[in-house]
Amino acid sequence: MSNLNELFAEIRNEFPALTQTVHGKRLSYLDSAATTLKPKVVIDRITKFYTNEVSNVHRGAHYLADIATQAFEGARHKIANFIGAEQFEEIIFVRGTTEGVNFVANTWGLTNLKAGDEILITEMEHHGNIVPWQMIAEKVGAKVVAAGILDNGEIDMDDFKNKLSSKTKMVAFTACSNVLGTNTDVAGMTKLAHAVGAKVLVDGAQIVSQFKVDVKALDVDFFVFSSHKLFGPFGFGVVYGKRAILDSMPPYQGGGSMISKVTIEKTTYNDVPTRFEAGTPHVEGAIGTAAAIEFLENIGFDKIHAYEMDLLKYATEKLLEIPDLKIYGMANDKGPTISFNLKGAHHSDVGQILDQEGVAVRAGHHCTQPLMARLGIPGTVRASFSVYNNRQDVDALVKAVVKARELLL
Ligand code: PLP
Repeated sequence: MSNLNELFAEIRNEFPALTQTVHGKRLSYLDSAATTLKPKVVIDRITKFYTNEVSNVHRGAHYLADIATQAFEGARHKIANFIGAEQFEEIIFVRGTTEGVNFVANTWGLTNLKAGDEILITEMEHHGNIVPWQMIAEKVGAKVVAAGILDNGEIDMDDFKNKLSSKTKMVAFTACSNVLGTNTDVAGMTKLAHAVGAKVLVDGAQIVSQFKVDVKALDVDFFVFSSHKLFGPFGFGVVYGKRAILDSMPPYQGGGSMISKVTIEKTTYNDVPTRFEAGTPHVEGAIGTAAAIEFLENIGFDKIHAYEMDLLKYATEKLLEIPDLKIYGMANDKGPTISFNLKGAHHSDVGQILDQEGVAVRAGHHCTQPLMARLGIPGTVRASFSVYNNRQDVDALVKAVVKARELLL
């Protein structure tokens, strides 16, 4: 572990945001499930694009446009390789996980779902993987059904199996809960969904920074994630879709780039992926994401996982020593995220006290109101860990929670 600690101490130095103090205190940034901090290599790569390479892509017949287009399309290849897609055309650029789900719901969903069909989700989905399905369901007369969760935060697989039927046309679930930390059995659930003929969309927002994802091996039909949770820029995300399914889908938005030929009477559309990417894209988003992936791959997911699991274990043990503290989500397979409450204290009050101590966490319902209803609480305090955190951050968290308990209970 000491080698790993040394390696991650160096990695921590690559995040300029961590050099500042907050309220006069050392910053313990424990909100990576909301967004990760950005390493210098990503910031520098985006700066380089804006400094030297700035140009629109695909359409210019000049040097800078060529450089920008190469970097932009190079990012598509890098992302395809990163998640194990077979073809780079299976990678669609969007604004993030939320737009990714909306995109699939409004293209695949609108064409393939009909009255009486069911979309199976789970009780622990982020609103981004609930509301788009409800909106489409309402349009076509389909129904959204949710599999329950067990008290330890794992999906109730009996309930999941019971709710799968010939009516199920889409199964949409998260690979990792942003509240409970639960990692789900993506391959197993996908197999069960395919057995009833349903398509599968996996919300990868919380998993891509933890594990090497292999969409081909998992056999998912769609996989969506946001770059900003992966050390990359805001406003950029990815939809992976199996080529045959993407080929069968209508366009998403109309405009430049997505066309093959336009006349006043009629437009024919481009092939995938550009058919789904109308207008000037988020060029630095793609380029910055490629830099973020390189950053992660240079560290190696095996090391990241070992380091984060050690932090999770240490933090869980230390927090559980605090009287009146309850952790939500104790799944066997967990990401580096801990949600908790102090019995008798409001999560927002705890969050505020932690902030004053330089400990940045999120307090609220985390865009998972159905999960909060299932847990019977309005919200939690959530601490989430990443490659730049260390035991000093955990100790600062524990000390601040002890202080909050003294002040609030
Ligand atoms: N799904 C999960 C599991 C998330 O954690 C989040 C963000 O918190 C989202 C979806 C939505 O991601 P974005 O806001 O980047 O679209």
